[in-house]
Amino acid sequence: MVVRIIIAGAGHGGLVAGTLLARQGLDVSIHEQRPRDALGHDWHDDFYLEAFDRAGLPRPPPSDFTRKGNIRFHSPSMAHVLSTYVPEHQLEIQMDRRVLYGRLLALAEDAGVKLYFNSHVDGPLLEGHPGVVRGLVIGGKETSADLVIDAAGLDSPVRRGLPDRYRVQRDINPPDVFNTYRAYYNLQPGKPYDSDRFEVYFLFGGLRGIAWFRVVDGQADIFFGQVEPLAPARVDELLLAMRREHPALGETRTRGGQFNAIPIRHQLSRFVGDGYAAVGDAACMAVPLNGSGIHNAMVAGAMLADAVKAAIGEAGATPFPARALWPYQAAYLEGIGARMVGIDYLKRYLLALPAGDLDFIFAKRLITEKEVIAASAGNEIEMGFRDIMGKLARGFKRLPLLLSLKAAVDRMKKAVATASRIPTTYDPEAIDSWEAALERSMHHPTSGAASAASRPGPMGRRKK
Ligand SMILES: Cc1cc2nc3c(=O)[nH]c(=O)nc-3n(C[C@H](O)[C@H](O)[C@H](O)COP(=O)(O)OP(=O)(O)OC[C@H]3O[C@@H](n4cnc5c(N)ncnc54)[C@H](O)[C@@H]3O)c2cc1C
Repeated sequence: MVVRIIIAGAGHGGLVAGTLLARQGLDVSIHEQRPRDALGHDWHDDFYLEAFDRAGLPRPPPSDFTRKGNIRFHSPSMAHVLSTYVPEHQLEIQMDRRVLYGRLLALAEDAGVKLYFNSHVDGPLLEGHPGVVRGLVIGGKETSADLVIDAAGLDSPVRRGLPDRYRVQRDINPPDVFNTYRAYYNLQPGKPYDSDRFEVYFLFGGLRGIAWFRVVDGQADIFFGQVEPLAPARVDELLLAMRREHPALGETRTRGGQFNAIPIRHQLSRFVGDGYAAVGDAACMAVPLNGSGIHNAMVAGAMLADAVKAAIGEAGATPFPARALWPYQAAYLEGIGARMVGIDYLKRYLLALPAGDLDFIFAKRLITEKEVIAASAGNEIEMGFRDIMGKLARGFKRLPLLLSLKAAVDRMKKAVATASRIPTTYDPEAIDSWEAALERSMHHPTSGAASAASRPGPMGRRKK
């Protein structure tokens, strides 16, 4: 019996899942709307090399990447800085996205995956009422399969076309999306710059998000991202402000220059259904604090391949019912996703804070370098008794803010614990109540807590 897997979009997780499944002898095809040489963004990305290990794929040769520099996080007023120090071998790698894609595509082809470029997926092919996914509609033509893997990114037409009964969130809420601009510019001759440092700014020039400056391949790498829409005129203003900070930043754009959107929420609370599994940005798997999604997408692709292989081992598992795909969702939540819930919680808290409070947090190190590194890497934040006592000593002038931060960390941990309690077997009732508990744990009034924190409390008045 030939098992047919059809993948929408050549996303990273789809390529990994496709490669691993084709190696098992399954009939895998990928339909990608872009031409082959236009895949991936025109810049370098940071991600953990370990993604290849977990995906069971060979690591790229050292000539294909460099190590990312340590980061200097700047507070909104730019008066305070948190500098990270991570030993070189533990830093993320920095790899040209086109080189990464070249590698993933070559591995997929070697495994026997059929790649179709310039092939636009219109949506899912549905059978019967209320509708079960039985393939894809591609360029107006129906193509059936035993399983559809959705690796078509944030705006996937497959996810958007799912029937209600799948209970997969079709549209992503605007506050859960980071609107970004990224480009490389020339460096002005004779102007100094620090080539080892990665400068990251919170609320730069009033941006409701982050900005960065660093030097990559002899060019200035610039990023702006915020939850509100980002207009070209606003980017021009921000570039001027960035040039004041970094006179080495030139005016000639050398690479990139696109506006894109990244999901910055925890993964969808359901991303599998009958004959359907989403991976990567299609399921909102990027790290909510910084939008890094390559590692999580690749590892999720490997987890999905494991679940599909296991399901094929069971009699009558094709076409794949939700029951057979649920172990993929459970494995992702246990291995990665529960931590993403915590990071999302922290992000919501920090984004709701006024700039002055964020500055105070930096100045008094109420969030430390260690915690920022943990959150950016997608790891849980540990705040032990000694940490809390130290923070209390440093932050007593704004006790309400400190207490709100502590309360947010406690609720964050509860949300992580709730997410970790995902049912490991497919029990629709247990899944419904887990999902409801997870949603409740994410809807604590973090913004209310933050604004209460910025009001003068009984122990201290707001003072710079
Ligand atoms: C400015 C910026 C900087 C980033 N920096 C980093 C970083 O440093 N590190 C990191 O880990 N991540 C980074 N990311 C995030 C990263 O790009 C994504 O999280 C990652 O690509 C995982 O997404 P994906 O592979 O699932 O989907 P995508 O990369 O979105 O790929 C989806 C694919 O599906 C195709 N597709 C979409 N619709 C259709 C259709 N209808 N028919 C056929 N094909 C379709 C698309 O053309 C695309 O090739 C960055 C993103 C941006 C925008």
